[in-house]
Amino acid sequence: MYDKNNIFAKILRSEVSCKKVYEDEISLFFYDVNPIAKIHVLGIPKKECADFSDFVANTNSEFITNFFNNVNYVIRLLRVDKTGYKIISNSGVDGGQEVPHFHIHIIGGEKIDLKI
Ligand code: 5GP
Repeated sequence: MYDKNNIFAKILRSEVSCKKVYEDEISLFFYDVNPIAKIHVLGIPKKECADFSDFVANTNSEFITNFFNNVNYVIRLLRVDKTGYKIISNSGVDGGQEVPHFHIHIIGGEKIDLKI
């Protein structure tokens, strides 16, 4: 069950502000409020989906493709495609997900000391 009061839903409704990197009709990318590296951006679809599995299972293919193309667009916009980056999506309790709206972390700008 999707929680309409999660913080990213509030950001999408402009009830909470964010520092935007890129926005279009299907997605929003903004800086993480608590970055773990010089560049730490979050990408979210404008769709009520709790996590990765919910997004992929319940979204049409064109939207999914466009969303991931946008992730790649932002990676290039941030210029981390040249230097390297991590993309991470935490899911559920064991995945350490804090905000129950599917999101991708784009992390870079320096060597990331996070081995997985
Ligand atoms: P998760 O653990 O769910 O994968 O990551 C959630 C991320 O959202 C965390 O890195 C956290 O710093 C970030 N975050 C939580 N609340 C806010 C907020 O209000 N604004 C922004 N920009 N980031 C947030």
